[in-house]
Amino acid sequence: MVKQTIQIFARVKPPVRKHQQGIYSIDEDEKLIPSLEIILPRDLADGFVNNKRESYKFKFQRIFDQDANQETVFENIAKPVAGSVLAGYNGTIFAYGQTGSGKTFTITGGAERYSDRGIIPRTLSYIFEQLQKDSSKIYTTHISYLEIYNECGYDLLDPRHEASSLEDLPKVTILEDPDQNIHLKNLTLHQATTEEEALNLLFLGDTNRMIAETPMNQASTRSHCIFTIHLSSKEPGSATVRHAKLHLVDLAGSERVAKTGVGGHLLTEAKYINLSLHYLEQVIIALSEKHRSHIPYRNSMMTSVLRDSLGGNCMTTMIATLSLEKRNLDESISTCRFAQRVALIKNEAVLNEEINPRLVIKRLQKEIQELKDELAMVTGEQRTEALTEAELLQLEKLITSFLEDQDSDSRLEVGADMRKVHHCFHHLKKLLNDKKILENNTVSSESKDQDCQEPLKEEEYRKLRDILKQRDNEINILVNMLKKEKKKAQEALHLAGMDRREFRQSQSPPFRLGNPEEGQRMRLSSAPSQAQDFSILGKRSSLLHKKIGMREEMSLGCQEAFEIFKRDHADSVTIDDNKQILKQRFSEAKALGESINEARSKIGISENMAVPLMPDQQEEKLRSQLEEEKRRYKTMFTRLKALKVEIEHLQLLMDKAKVKLQKEFEVWWAEEATNLQVNSPAVNSLDHTKPFLQTSDSQHEWSQLLSNKSSGGWEVQDQGTGRFDVCDVNARKILPSPCPSPHSQKQSSTSTPLEDSIPKRPVSSIPLTGDSQTDSDIIAFIKARQSILQKQCLGSN
Ligand code: ADP
Ligand code: MG
Repeated sequence: MVKQTIQIFARVKPPVRKHQQGIYSIDEDEKLIPSLEIILPRDLADGFVNNKRESYKFKFQRIFDQDANQETVFENIAKPVAGSVLAGYNGTIFAYGQTGSGKTFTITGGAERYSDRGIIPRTLSYIFEQLQKDSSKIYTTHISYLEIYNECGYDLLDPRHEASSLEDLPKVTILEDPDQNIHLKNLTLHQATTEEEALNLLFLGDTNRMIAETPMNQASTRSHCIFTIHLSSKEPGSATVRHAKLHLVDLAGSERVAKTGVGGHLLTEAKYINLSLHYLEQVIIALSEKHRSHIPYRNSMMTSVLRDSLGGNCMTTMIATLSLEKRNLDESISTCRFAQRVALIKNEAVLNEEINPRLVIKRLQKEIQELKDELAMVTGEQRTEALTEAELLQLEKLITSFLEDQDSDSRLEVGADMRKVHHCFHHLKKLLNDKKILENNTVSSESKDQDCQEPLKEEEYRKLRDILKQRDNEINILVNMLKKEKKKAQEALHLAGMDRREFRQSQSPPFRLGNPEEGQRMRLSSAPSQAQDFSILGKRSSLLHKKIGMREEMSLGCQEAFEIFKRDHADSVTIDDNKQILKQRFSEAKALGESINEARSKIGISENMAVPLMPDQQEEKLRSQLEEEKRRYKTMFTRLKALKVEIEHLQLLMDKAKVKLQKEFEVWWAEEATNLQVNSPAVNSLDHTKPFLQTSDSQHEWSQLLSNKSSGGWEVQDQGTGRFDVCDVNARKILPSPCPSPHSQKQSSTSTPLEDSIPKRPVSSIPLTGDSQTDSDIIAFIKARQSILQKQCLGSN
C-alpha cells in the first residue's frame, strides 16, 4: 500500500500581453518547498474593504512558470503517475483553474502544433512504449471518455454520437454495488492495442464534444471531461490479474460569481458557477478536516466517479492552472487556495489484484495431479501393466521438446510413474548411442576443425538470416503504409489545389447573372471535386466522414459560402501550415524509407558474402560492417516509427481543425439566416424594380474601389444606365433551377444597417427559385459575400 497526500503542482499560463511583471514571483530554493507569491497591486488591494493584504503565498510541489514546455510538464507530472499505473496502482491527474487558464492545453494539448500535445497523448505514447518493452506480462488497454455536463454523464465515444446533440444520447448513469463500488452504465470501453488507436479515440471524443457544443450550453467551459486509460496486466500462466485506471481530467472552469455586487467580495468565498465544482469543494473540505466521518461523495456525479481519486485508492495529482494577469488575480488566488486544501488529502493506493477463477481451477487441477503422483510414489503403489503405444509416443514427443528447449530450467515432467521414468531413460540412451555412431561416421570424412566450427557458424547465419527476413517484412509493411499515406495526402493536396484553382478560374471570367443554364453546368463540374476532396480525407476518420455527409447535404450556395468562409478563417492558416509540415514529414519519411532500404540491402550483401569461407580478418571486418549497418538501420527504423506517430497526430489535428471550421461556419450561417429574418419584417410590400441604393455617387466610389481591388468574385458591371452594380460572379454557382414563383421573392428584401453602406445590385436581378430554403441560402450567401467584401475593403484602407 502506498500512502500519499494529493500532489499539487501549479502552472502559469503565458500572458496574452507581455509586461505583466511584478504580479507574482516564484521561490524555488532547492532546500525549501517551492512557493508562489501573488502580489496584488495597490489599486486593486485598496478596493477590498475586508482584506488589506497585498501578498499571498502558496506552496506547491513544483511550479511551472510561463516558459515551461509540454515535455517538461509531462516528464515531471504525468510520467511518475503513468509509471505507477503500469505497476498496477490507480492514478488521477486533474487540472483545475478558471476558463482560459490552460487546463485543456495542459491535459489534451494545443490544437495547432505537434509539440503542443498535452498530457493525454504523451501518456498514451509512454504507456504503449513501456508495454512494448515489457514482454514478461500480457497487457490489455481500454479507453473510455466521459463528459459530465449539468450533472449528466455522456459517453464521448458513443458510436451513436452522430446525433449531434448531447441530449439525444443515452445518459451515463452511476450504479453502486453492495461493496460500494461504482459502476458506470452506458459508458463504453474501447480496446486500444496501439498508441495510434488510442489517439484516434481521443480525437474522436474531442471532436464529438466540439460538435455537441452549442453557444447555449458552453459545454467546453462548463463540463468536466474524464479520459480514462484502463490497464490490466497478467503474467503468462498466472491466475492473478492486475487492474489499474488512469483518469486524466479536464475540469470545468472554476470561475465564481460574486456573492455581493460590490467591492470586498473578490477575495472572499464566492459561489462557483458550476454546481459540481461546488460539491467537489465540499468533498475536499470534508476530507481535509480530521474526524469527519461522512464524506458527501454522492452529491454529484463527478465526485462519485472520482471517489477513489479523492481520499481513496489512487495516486492523485492536481495541476492548478493559473492565468496571472491583473484581472484574473482573484480567480488565481481562489485556485491556489483550493489547491492548498487538496494538498491535505491523504490517499491510500493499493495494488488492484484480482484472481481469475478459470486459471485458478487449471492450476489446482495440475497441483492435484502432482500430489496424486507423489502419493503413489510414497505409498509404493506400483503400476505393472505395460504402457500403451499412445503413451510411448507421447513420452517420446516430450523428450524431443525437452532436448530442444534452450531454457536451462526446463523440466521433463512425466509424473511419478516409474514405468514412464524407465522408458525415458531407455529412449535417451538410444538417442545418445545413435548420435555417437553418426559422429564417428562424419569424423572420418571431415576435418576435425571444420567439424566443431561449421555447425556454430551455420546456426549463426541462420539466425541472422531470420532476423533479416523479419526486418525486411517490417520495412515492407512500413514502406507500403507510407506510400499509401503519401498517396492519400497527395490526392488530398491535389484535390484541394484543384478546388482552389477551379474556384479561382470560376471567378476570373466576368459573368452576368441570369443565365441559369450555365450556372447549372458550373455547379456540376465544381461540386464533385469538393465532395471528393473531403471524402478522401474522410476515409481515415469516420467522424469526419459523417461531417462530410453533412456537407454534401448543404445547398450549393451554402457550400460556396463555406469555401469563402474557409478561405478567410484564421484556422485555415493553421491547416495550411500543418499541410506543409505534413508534406515535409512525408518527404522525410520517404527519404528515411529509402535509406532503410539501402541499409537493408547492404546488410543483405554482407550476409551473402559471409557465406563462403574466408580469412578471419576479412570475416571480422565484414562482421563489424554488418553490425554498423544494423545499428544504423535500427536508428532509422526508430525515427521512422516516431515520424509515423507525428504524421498521424498532425493528420488528426487537421481533421479536428476542419470539423471545427465547418461547425463555426454552420453557427455563423445560422446566425446570418436569423439576422436576415429579423431584419426583414415588412417583406410583402416590396417594390422589385427599385434598387437598394439610389445614390450613384457613393455607389460609383464603391465600384471603383472594388474594381481596383479585384474584389475576389465580385464583378462591377455597367448596366448601360450610367449606374454601376456589383454582381457576384460566383452567384452562378448557386443559381438554382429556373422556376421562379412570385411568392418566393418576398425573401429578397433584406438589408441590415451595416450593409446599407454597400452598394447592391437590384433585387430584380436576383433570380429566385421558389424554393424558400434555396432562396434564403442565396440571400445569406450574398450577404456573406458583402460582409466579407466590406471587411476586405476596410481592412486594406
Ligand atoms: P481552459 O481549458 O483552462 O479554458 P485552454 O487550455 O483552452 O484553457 O487555454 C486557453 C488558451 O490559452 C488556448 O488558446 C491555449 O492554447 C492557450 N494556452 C494555455 N496555456 C498555454 C501555455 N502554457 N502555453 C501556450 N499557450 C497556452
Ligand atoms: Mg478547456
